[in-house]
Amino acid sequence: MEKIIKKIILFFVVSCIHTCYLQANNFYASGPQNIKKISLTFDDGPGENTLKILEILKKKKVKATFFMLGCNIKNNSKIIKKVFDDGHEIANHTYKHINFYNYNKENKITIIENEILSTEKVIKDILNIKTFLVRFPYGYSKQDAIKIAKKYNYHVINWTFGIDWKQMDINKIHDEYKRAIKNGSIFLMHDVSKNNNVLMFLEKFIDEIIESGYKIVTISELLSLKNV
Ligand SMILES: [Zn+2]
Repeated sequence: MEKIIKKIILFFVVSCIHTCYLQANNFYASGPQNIKKISLTFDDGPGENTLKILEILKKKKVKATFFMLGCNIKNNSKIIKKVFDDGHEIANHTYKHINFYNYNKENKITIIENEILSTEKVIKDILNIKTFLVRFPYGYSKQDAIKIAKKYNYHVINWTFGIDWKQMDINKIHDEYKRAIKNGSIFLMHDVSKNNNVLMFLEKFIDEIIESGYKIVTISELLSLKNV
């Protein structure tokens, strides 16, 4: 009996530590591995392919997360409104798409802050919401940026798989995405792109995810995150 009680206590201690650790951590590149849920994310918009992607998502009754650039939102306020009105999640992809891996000036911290906050403001001005998910350009995920994100109540979201931007055979790209379908996958795609790869395989890809028994959900649903 004593052994059982000890085991129960140990179980609660371990799960508390696990939960506390998860709550303290604000960086994610995938969702839970034990649930058949997947997220689709679209970066760099709003732009030339956003409306076409919205049509596909509507047809398939799927909600996605759009990581948007402040500099593109300003000239496309109608498009961001449509993304929001269609029930998709709006997230922050900074303002000018600076590659912080190559940014070594002394004002780096200030620039990272400005990049998040200026996009937050543009989105707030148009939609009256505060974004709480950020993806830094090129998946920048060093501690300086993660700490700043936390300071401003953001979760940093990278991805499990994404190659739609590559100049590759479209069938090969599609196959690679298909192979990456698994519990908790976060797929990176782009709604602004030099190529139209994503438009050529997205519809089929969504069918394949659903036919494999997965539910497609927004990032906040996949990761059970709430606005803070
Ligand atoms: Zn980007």
